[in-house]
Amino acid sequence: MMKSGDRLRYNAYGSFLKEKFGCRVYKVSVDGGFTCPNRDGTIATGGCIYCNNASFRPPSADRISSVAAQIEAGVAYLRKRYRAEKFIAYFQPFTNTHAPLDVLAPLYETALSHHDVIGLSIGTRPDCIDEAKIAYLERLAARAFVTVEYGLQSIHDSTLKRINRGHDVQCWINAMERTRNRGIWLCTHLILGFPWESREQMLQGAEFLSGKGVNFLKLHHLHVTRDTELARMYHDRPFPLLSLEEYANLIVDFVLRLDPEIHIERLFGSAPENELIAPVWGKSKAEIRRCIDQTFILRDARQGMHLFGHTYGT
Ligand code: SF4
Repeated sequence: MMKSGDRLRYNAYGSFLKEKFGCRVYKVSVDGGFTCPNRDGTIATGGCIYCNNASFRPPSADRISSVAAQIEAGVAYLRKRYRAEKFIAYFQPFTNTHAPLDVLAPLYETALSHHDVIGLSIGTRPDCIDEAKIAYLERLAARAFVTVEYGLQSIHDSTLKRINRGHDVQCWINAMERTRNRGIWLCTHLILGFPWESREQMLQGAEFLSGKGVNFLKLHHLHVTRDTELARMYHDRPFPLLSLEEYANLIVDFVLRLDPEIHIERLFGSAPENELIAPVWGKSKAEIRRCIDQTFILRDARQGMHLFGHTYGT
């Protein structure tokens, strides 16, 4: 629950982890060697039009090293750089439940066998889960902090079609319903700024997510990265992308409508400089975060104040 004295105007995932574990907990990215059913032909071959896995894979996560070696390297780096104490193994690139259970289980167990790994975060698609996998994760969640991240990206089927997600909104709702109340924490991802979505359509996402069992939310602004279908579209016919100021105000409006029980894990997307085409805001991550935090303060806004059209006091 967000406290009135919080410096931040929203319920931040980092503060949640600190409070829950009482120490510095960081996510260590792991590449489990998976592919994606939306790229390998199981569902489609093109993938999502914005997908460039290089833009969200940190260097310590490489599929040549074993899971154990990746964790050792990531842990050593995070300890030194951030004085991190405990870790969540983040199975990040592609679709990390896209294999039979007897392949998945040893990878997850290896990650959890590291002395300072207290949990798992598993990035996947809502159409790549079944009862056997959920039941297994439920058992794991009885002894570790287990989060499943179901990508959604938009709450509008017309957008999901346009971006070639390969699943619809109902598929995400079904996955959430099957997984919630099983001791597994649930995260989802949403992209704001598709040029064909109106501002109102983007903001509808906040109330849609409220009450669906989402514990953690990652918000991204739409950006165009190299070697993607979106980049080709942008090259052929450039479309408007959000400025930092526009995005900061959009995020504030979104978070005003968002259930204050949802912890916000990410407020904006990022990509390596050499992968990013647009929008180029020319700011560091810290500067972008400061700009968004400042916008909350300037507008005297707090998470959930306008949930379901009501105005709640702070
Ligand atoms: S589901 Fe994820 S990994 Fe697969 S194509 Fe879409 S963005 Fe890429």
